[in-house]
Amino acid sequence: MNVKTNIPLSTLTTMRLGGSANYVIEVTSDKDLREVYKKSKQSGQPTYIIGGGSNLIAHDEGFSGTIIHNKIMGIEVTNDNAQATTVTVGAGEIWDDFVKQMVERNLSGIEAMSGIPGTVGAAPVQNIGAYGQELADTFVSLAAYDTQNDSFVTLDKSACGFAYRHSIFRGEQMGRYIITRVTLTLGKKPPQPPFYDALQKYFEQDQINTTTVTVQMIRDAVLKIRSNKLPNPLQLPNAGSFFKNPIVEKQLGDTLKATHPDMPTYPVDETHVKIPAGWLIQSCMLKGKILHGIKVHDGNAVVLVNQSAKGYSDLVSARQEIVDAVYQKFHISLEQEPLELQ
Ligand SMILES: Cc1cc2nc3c(=O)[nH]c(=O)nc-3n(C[C@H](O)[C@H](O)[C@H](O)COP(=O)(O)OP(=O)(O)OC[C@H]3O[C@@H](n4cnc5c(N)ncnc54)[C@H](O)[C@@H]3O)c2cc1C
Repeated sequence: MNVKTNIPLSTLTTMRLGGSANYVIEVTSDKDLREVYKKSKQSGQPTYIIGGGSNLIAHDEGFSGTIIHNKIMGIEVTNDNAQATTVTVGAGEIWDDFVKQMVERNLSGIEAMSGIPGTVGAAPVQNIGAYGQELADTFVSLAAYDTQNDSFVTLDKSACGFAYRHSIFRGEQMGRYIITRVTLTLGKKPPQPPFYDALQKYFEQDQINTTTVTVQMIRDAVLKIRSNKLPNPLQLPNAGSFFKNPIVEKQLGDTLKATHPDMPTYPVDETHVKIPAGWLIQSCMLKGKILHGIKVHDGNAVVLVNQSAKGYSDLVSARQEIVDAVYQKFHISLEQEPLELQ
């Protein structure tokens, strides 16, 4: 177990904000995890579990307790047949390293989620997704430490309450479970067109016959598209999409489209549509603007870059200005995607 004291949270989160944490402890096994959690609880200290810190906003006052840094590793094939392979992955594995390995084995179902930063253990928390795939599509179950009952449990898909960028782990059961392993079933069939809009366009532009597309080609395309659209947090501190794409009643979508014909909408179900948050922000002429040291990224307005914020309060002020501008123009309330470390 690696124990560090007085660690700035700005070094553990990609938005690079926040004061110090009293303790940061790396755990590599279920036994260590339980021991660290129980010790912290007995000493009356709060605990918080962290992976890559890429979907997390830390506060200026830091964290007066123990941050558990998940490093439980391992990738194990637990079932294999002619159609599919089931894999159980340690929560501390880097998500994109795992995707790369699965793509190299020609397994499909997560290739469009190439390049998403962070760990496997955090992937179920917001049901990560990109370019037409989301974790829930291939998810079978996860193993977790249940801090409420001091026991290790297995939760199947229905128990996780997956929805768009949501699950029980950031909803009603937030803070209860520490995920230790995730099990997915990946397919062996080649990917089938039509693909997600941006991918379809990418292949058509390169005059690639989409019936010959492989999982590796999808991974390569996604990595290329992402590198042009999303700032690298190592160069420009950010937490990816800062706002969720709002899902609104189809009727409101239709009304807005009448006055803003260029507004993209994506059907969610028969009565709801999704509107890209980036488009709404950009339409308020905020793209490229710097608000309180936070820059609305000029390539993708849904990403906020910490350019020179003096602290968390600057981010709060910038967020409020953006939320207010979008509400005034469209009567839509933007919701923050990254969670807050508190
Ligand atoms: C440039 C950039 C691009 C991004 N693109 C996408 C994208 O395309 N799609 C997408 O969905 N997301 C995207 N994200 C967001 C982020 O990468 C994902 O949410 C990722 O799953 C976060 O992983 P992490 O390990 O960094 O989690 P952290 O930020 O460390 O934690 C996030 C939350 O999960 C909890 N958590 C972490 N590990 C565990 C665990 N083992 N058990 C229980 N709870 C846990 C934490 O307590 C916290 O509440 C992007 C982020 C960045 C910076």
